[in-house]
Amino acid sequence: MNRVYNFSAGPSMLPLEVLEQAAAEMTNYNGSGMSVMEMSHRSPVYDAIIKQTEADFRTLMNIPDNYKVLFLQGGASTQFAAIPLNLMKTGKADYVVSGQFSGKAFKEAKKYGDAKCIATSEDKTFSYIPEITPDMVREDADYVHVCYNNTIFGTKYPEVPNVGDKVLVADMSSCITSEPVDVTKFGVIYAGAQKNMAPAGLTVVIIREDLMGTAREDIPTMLDYKTMADNDSMYNTPPCYAIYVAGLVYKWALKNGGLEAMKERNEKKAALLYDFLDNSKLFKATAEKKYRSMMNVCFVTGDEALDKKFCKEAAEAGFVNLKGHRSVGGMRASIYNAMPTEGVQALVEFMKKFEAENA
Ligand SMILES: *Cc1c(COP(=O)(O)O)cnc(C)c1O
Repeated sequence: MNRVYNFSAGPSMLPLEVLEQAAAEMTNYNGSGMSVMEMSHRSPVYDAIIKQTEADFRTLMNIPDNYKVLFLQGGASTQFAAIPLNLMKTGKADYVVSGQFSGKAFKEAKKYGDAKCIATSEDKTFSYIPEITPDMVREDADYVHVCYNNTIFGTKYPEVPNVGDKVLVADMSSCITSEPVDVTKFGVIYAGAQKNMAPAGLTVVIIREDLMGTAREDIPTMLDYKTMADNDSMYNTPPCYAIYVAGLVYKWALKNGGLEAMKERNEKKAALLYDFLDNSKLFKATAEKKYRSMMNVCFVTGDEALDKKFCKEAAEAGFVNLKGHRSVGGMRASIYNAMPTEGVQALVEFMKKFEAENA
């Protein structure tokens, strides 16, 4: 059977080359006589894998030496609790609520201290990113939390928000490695890896060293960044296989020109789709232009029955997982790094045909 064009928001497509390499190495990794799935995380073979994965990730993201990279479990959702537990020193933190996941992060933080929502775009169903300026941030807040790309609503920060000298914490689950970011502007970046980097099971945290070691006393050991950093992400068993695949994906991204090249290709892919949507008589993009995501393109026909018909016919034609998130309906095409330009071109052709038949 042929592979389909998979527009899933996550877990999502991985580069075919990576899957083929993982398949070739499945039963006997590099002469070890065993699969990466079967080996001890304390073995020299695995040690080389995790070290190389981190080194390649650091190169790809241009991560400075005063930042630690942690390979964790629990998904981005566990970080919603880990962030306040580690970083709330005065007990205060400010949140920007620009979609569903940032709302969940905010709600979780309220359990542990005085979390305040300083801006939200809820008034227009999260179709834009609220502007923030340093004067909106409370003087004694320990950090400001943002979600950099809103997976469900298809919006993204057009630039790094200005929070003055406050520590900026960003959930980058759905945009990490899609384009270069200046890591030095952030205190913490975290991401569930299953959107743009690896299979599910791995969560990556990039944290400035001086932000560790000040967690509250009663923090669960597993959530303490210092514990994880001191043990090189091996306090317990890490998500070994997902880390190995992430390593293959990083090598693939580096071989294909790194994040500058990813950005160029992602911009081109997103433009193909948005240009079509902007000129379509049937389909309409839902996010405001200035804040459009390159990774998650959300659109509607304005008629629920027609949306449903579109998703059904698209799936039959090999374009799968185009249904929007269950909370918002409509359609969403997630076009992460692994989605080839041809996949987006083919989708646009299919949409043109559907429009001609249904407008
Ligand atoms: C998918 C997603 C999450 C949730 O990730 P899990 O790994 O499932 O916990 C959080 N934030 C953003 C921006 C996401 O896209």
